[in-house]
Amino acid sequence: MREYGDAAAHPSQDVDLGALEAATAELRERLRDNYPFHHPRYAAQMLKPPHPAAVIGYVTAMLVNPNNHALDGGPATAALEKEVVAQLAAMFGFADRAGAPGYLGHLTSSGTIANLEALFVARETHPGLRVAHSADAHYTHARMAHLLGVESVAVPTSADGTMDLDALASLLRTGTVGTVVATTGTTGLGAVDPVHEILPIARAHGVRVHVDAAYGGFFRLIADDLPGGVAPAPYLAIAECDSVVIDPHKHGLQPYGCGAVLFRDPAVARHYLHDSPYTYFTSEDLHLGEISLECSRAGAAAAALWLTLRLLPLTPDGLGAVLRPGRQAALDWAALIEQSEELRLYQPPQLDILTCYPVRPRLSEVDAVSATAMTAGMTRPPAESVHLATYTVDAADLAARGHAVEADVPTGRILRSVLMKPEHQAAVPWLHEQVLGLVR
Ligand SMILES: *Cc1c(COP(=O)(O)O)cnc(C)c1O
Repeated sequence: MREYGDAAAHPSQDVDLGALEAATAELRERLRDNYPFHHPRYAAQMLKPPHPAAVIGYVTAMLVNPNNHALDGGPATAALEKEVVAQLAAMFGFADRAGAPGYLGHLTSSGTIANLEALFVARETHPGLRVAHSADAHYTHARMAHLLGVESVAVPTSADGTMDLDALASLLRTGTVGTVVATTGTTGLGAVDPVHEILPIARAHGVRVHVDAAYGGFFRLIADDLPGGVAPAPYLAIAECDSVVIDPHKHGLQPYGCGAVLFRDPAVARHYLHDSPYTYFTSEDLHLGEISLECSRAGAAAAALWLTLRLLPLTPDGLGAVLRPGRQAALDWAALIEQSEELRLYQPPQLDILTCYPVRPRLSEVDAVSATAMTAGMTRPPAESVHLATYTVDAADLAARGHAVEADVPTGRILRSVLMKPEHQAAVPWLHEQVLGLVR
């Protein structure tokens, strides 16, 4: 910036230093109304602070404030975005073919927008046909399909929370479905739909397959059947699917505002085609706004992800080593619960999300104890607190998993913990003791 010569700020933007300090102090005070997302005692929702490298990358680029809509808005961060998208594509096996890109993709502000774009392209390639997703898929699919004027249909899940393949097969035989959404890591239970089994069923009917890997996509790095790893087959099959969505702001150590969508066929760019009299003028090269539904997007988000992946690359030993301890934490805690008389595992964890419930005869009591445990844990003094989440189940969900709980009420809450910080592994014995104390 200094190379361009002095450019004094206009006095209208001057602020009183004392006023800035006072307002900042007020902000810090306001921000105390939060939960300890950074700490292993927070074992509730999918939240954690970004990696310091992401913060440095974000703030460094943000001082320039490039806009990744068009190359005119910041060529540097547009180039960084293309590099990180290529790394995500390589992770999923969307490799380049014969020197030409074997995929099309870009970052988005969120998983919601990324899924919207995938379903938008699905509507264009399979017009007039329905979108099928599992009953446990993120609610965004039904909502975005509605927004796109596409009918959606929920496929029942089997006892492990994954898409029921028999139900899918009979649904596809109706010929009314154009796209199946497989979720590799549902938001509630972390259930991984069997992409490798969904694909052949879908292909037999000429149906498109989109994978919502917003939460679970980075588990591809540890889909190796090694200790603390996850089952490889569904993840390896993503390479053969038509599109995939991943949220670097969930398991990619990024601040919010970083999702991504990738398409297997680069030719889907034609569905985005538009021109604009006031953008796209500095270069004939691809402007990201030409392949994205969003216009302005933070170039800083691309810089943050790029810098993070320089230090923790998309390899088993890089970012994979950050995910494996959380996965191991879920396995270790599940083993402790299986040995206990007072807690029961709702279902075995497939990723790093653990669900269990206090052993009580009736669902109304399971619900009351779970809710009380959650509230009691989070209202303790900060240095003694334990933060859990709940998950609502019904009689059929419990029965499908063989749980002998009398469903005296239609639905009830059980306990749910997302163990997405590597520090959770060492904290598991402590967390288990705390939960036992709370449910007693
Ligand atoms: C979080 C999530 C979404 C929505 O993504 P946002 O980034 O919150 O908009 C969609 N699908 C799944 C499976 C998710 O976990």
